[in-house]
Amino acid sequence: MDEGILDLSCAQCKTRVDSLPTIIKFQGQEIYLFHPIFCKNCLSSICKQHSTICANCGQSIPPYSQVGVLKGNDRKNQLVHMTTSCLTTGSAFHGYWGKGELHKFVEIEAC
Ligand SMILES: [Zn+2]
Ligand SMILES: [Zn+2]
Repeated sequence: MDEGILDLSCAQCKTRVDSLPTIIKFQGQEIYLFHPIFCKNCLSSICKQHSTICANCGQSIPPYSQVGVLKGNDRKNQLVHMTTSCLTTGSAFHGYWGKGELHKFVEIEAC
């Protein structure tokens, strides 16, 4: 018996998740999430609670996505989508927007 290896369950509600990534549509954007494992219901409620606003286009940025980071005034970082239209040349950082906080904050060498 090889059960257990592919036992996927939602990290939040423990519902069984049939396949990865979990894919939902959130405000017109498709979200693919491999890790952590969430069912569609939990992922969409997390997106509602923890999304942030793109400083460029004003659309929401869902959690668990790559973001561009603009160094704003007052040391307040502004986040933008990792798209060519939103990620302007002035931005020197990118990171990973997690569950309401920034992870893997990386500085891009600018010259
Ligand atoms: Zn769930
Ligand atoms: Zn944007």
